[in-house]
Amino acid sequence: MRIDVFTLFPEWFDWFLGQRHVRNALGLGHDVRLFNYRDTTPLGHGQVDDSPYGGGAGMVIRVDVVDAALQAVYGPDTAAMLAARRVAVLSPSGRPLDDSVAEELAGLDELTLLCGRYEGIDDRVREHLSNDSLSIGPYVLSGGELAAMVVADTVLRKLPGALGHESSALEESFSTALEGAAEYPHYTRPACHRGWDVPDVLLSGHHQQVRDWRRSLAARRREEQG
Ligand code: SAH
Repeated sequence: MRIDVFTLFPEWFDWFLGQRHVRNALGLGHDVRLFNYRDTTPLGHGQVDDSPYGGGAGMVIRVDVVDAALQAVYGPDTAAMLAARRVAVLSPSGRPLDDSVAEELAGLDELTLLCGRYEGIDDRVREHLSNDSLSIGPYVLSGGELAAMVVADTVLRKLPGALGHESSALEESFSTALEGAAEYPHYTRPACHRGWDVPDVLLSGHHQQVRDWRRSLAARRREEQG
């Protein structure tokens, strides 16, 4: 899978790209590329934004700037670009990211993420230059970079082999393996700490009982969450 991120702050991703599971994914042949809108802006002095039509505070990233950045990478045919890949604008009012959306994105060969800044991106980008929009939650960040890293993180860890242990991403909170429930609780040594015991069943060595216990706790959590 290839994830392309368009941003004004590519250096924000240095830390993210250095993380073990991301490096694992890259080592498996997956790719994360970063593009700076400023590098291809058709405007002078590296300009990328402008004041909003209709007035109001803040600056808006221009549609011609985003278009130029996309064309520089994918060529001049916008319809072909959109047919060949998922292009998602990151926006607080986008499609809410959850595990099933992450699963869907992890099945793609090509995903492009457009990070906004300031007051956001000219809405014609959403309308004409993208075919998806993603929100990581009902709150406002100062830019799409952290949101892009959240999306890339949850998607990359779903790719086979990205987490050293092959099965670790299969049976997790919200996964279909757990019927959408939060995961069962985990325990490790010591079995007793300050009188706080690990549930007996986990020490019993009865695999079927352990499985049943985990399922029932996951189901209980699901009911508690309504
Ligand atoms: N004025 C906008 C907020 C702009 S925040 C509004 O009120 O909706 C600046 C940029 O940060 C956005 O363009 C978007 O790319 C990113 N961003 C902020 N919050 C986000 C969220 N919850 N999910 C995804 N991207 C977000």
